[in-house]
Amino acid sequence: MLTLGIDIGSTTSKCVLLENGTTILAKSLVKAGTGTDGPARALKQILEEAGVSREDIAFIMTTGYGRSTFEGTDGELSELSCHCKGVYFAAPDVRTIIDIGGQDAKVIQVSKTGKIQNFLMNDKCAAGTGRFLDVMAGILQMDVDDLGPKALQAEAPVKISSTCTVFAESEVISQLSKGVGLPDLIAGICNSVASRTAALAKRVGVQDAVYMSGGVAKNIGVRKALERELKTSIGFHEDAQYMGALGAAVAAYEKVSAET
Ligand code: ADP
Repeated sequence: MLTLGIDIGSTTSKCVLLENGTTILAKSLVKAGTGTDGPARALKQILEEAGVSREDIAFIMTTGYGRSTFEGTDGELSELSCHCKGVYFAAPDVRTIIDIGGQDAKVIQVSKTGKIQNFLMNDKCAAGTGRFLDVMAGILQMDVDDLGPKALQAEAPVKISSTCTVFAESEVISQLSKGVGLPDLIAGICNSVASRTAALAKRVGVQDAVYMSGGVAKNIGVRKALERELKTSIGFHEDAQYMGALGAAVAAYEKVSAET
């Protein structure tokens, strides 16, 4: 049986195709999120790659910020549930998930059986999310993918004291004009996201094993800074950005299995 999860985020659309609730057959990612044709393109792409048609899929589950906007879905489920199911599928030893996406950050405490025990979310403020990193990359005229590796070269990371993205933007521009080195500045930017997320994590309570999900997991600068803040190692899965879509595909499988 084939099930499919679509995670319609603020910046990207991701799909995962699952066979019999156990095997990932294909994945797709389009850098366009809710309110665009990104979800439809991501779906077309994955169907082509897997060589299957919409009719072959028993259930499509959508999740993410734009989950209610997608026509042709069979059901929808919250991002919290889907990230929990996705990470638990990939790493059953997970007890804490730190999910940083394009416009929010969540920390989820997971039970041994993969259920949500507790969570906290920052969806009010761009600081501490991928948006903050995207804005800063824009100012530095860099690709967001290059921020992490650059941050690792820092010798004396700058402290970004503004807690608001707009003020932090001015602060970064001022540091740039003072001639601060790029690695030190970028490390400061990554540290700033990490310290906000660590504060959220400490309020939820951090238990090992800790895994990151969401696109910002790919930023090694943020990941390492979070490890320092939380004094623990953080598991990284190469499919971190697909965890919501994976969880949606798992939920779709559970739903169909329960009904038949
Ligand atoms: P959403 O679901 O809200 O669209 P994602 O979980 O897809 O968000 O994460 C998007 C964020 O991930 C971007 O804002 C960006 O900061 C970050 N990101 C995406 N790809 C990379 C990468 N290769 N390296 C570093 N950061 C990345």
